[in-house]
Amino acid sequence: MSYREIHELFVVCDECHTSLSVYDATYEAADNEAADHGWQCDELQGRHYCPLHWHVECHDCDITDSGAPDELEADGWHIDRDYPCDSLCPNHRHLACRECRKWDVGPLHRLEYEGWQVNADDFKKSLCPECVKNKKETK
Ligand SMILES: [Zn+2]
Ligand SMILES: [Zn+2]
Ligand SMILES: [Zn+2]
Repeated sequence: MSYREIHELFVVCDECHTSLSVYDATYEAADNEAADHGWQCDELQGRHYCPLHWHVECHDCDITDSGAPDELEADGWHIDRDYPCDSLCPNHRHLACRECRKWDVGPLHRLEYEGWQVNADDFKKSLCPECVKNKKETK
């Protein structure tokens, strides 16, 4: 009698159960392989999500969402592709001052209330409250 054993490992999406064959890989290599294919691998919880079902969590307010990263970004998420749990939800913007490089993170309405002049085209080119004040004074 002859035997032939084929060992094959699959990474499975915890959301839709789509599976990706990574052949005869170790678990660690499987994660790398899956990441190369656009999968999200959550090492801490041992979960995997296919490219259509990334799970992101807002670093600031713990709101979570799931979907394709491109779609989430179109919805206003700022996704950290290496650490999806450090993403920022559409309510939380990372603003940076184009004058003094000060930065802040928070809901737009709070930042505007605090005096930030928000540049909607490029949040990194906004003006912080102090620089807004300075501008007014030099006028
Ligand atoms: Zn999926
Ligand atoms: Zn948030
Ligand atoms: Zn400034």
